[in-house]
Amino acid sequence: MSPSAVYRAELGRAAWKLFHTTFARFPDKPTTDESTALQSYVYLFQRLYPCGECAEHFGTILDKFPPQVSSRSVAAAWGCHVHNEVNKSLNKELFDCSNIGDFYDCGCAEDEAGEGG
Ligand code: FAD
Repeated sequence: MSPSAVYRAELGRAAWKLFHTTFARFPDKPTTDESTALQSYVYLFQRLYPCGECAEHFGTILDKFPPQVSSRSVAAAWGCHVHNEVNKSLNKELFDCSNIGDFYDCGCAEDEAGEGG
């Protein structure tokens, strides 16, 4: 693998980790403002993604599958789906999205205990 391919893959792994963990921490019952914020986040993530070719490619995926932000589980399933769309185009194995709920744990559950929800 060329050095640039290695860097691109490292960036991708880090970015996907943040992307999916953000969905895993999104509220079950978001306010309209929270849903709007997540939708904006996804579009800005795409627009500002440091690998230009990847960003362009992901933009076409977002055109086809716009962000789903009505709840945590819906957002997490959508995130899994669009990552699988990227996986497909790179001939990678598809991820089993039925396990997505348990897969991304940031160790942040203790934060919630003090928030009353
Ligand atoms: P990754 O795809 O990085 O996945 C990391 C880990 O996430 C996996 O090991 C697995 O545990 C888990 N995972 C895998 N699939 C899913 C899923 N569907 N849902 C949840 N978790 C999952 N690279 C290119 O060469 N060309 C591109 O056009 C390109 N576009 C990209 C667009 C975006 C928005 C991002 C974030 C990355 C893009 N990449 C692209 C990088 C590419 O997707 C991979 O990150 C990189 O190739 C490293 O792949 P990997 O096999 O280590 O696993």
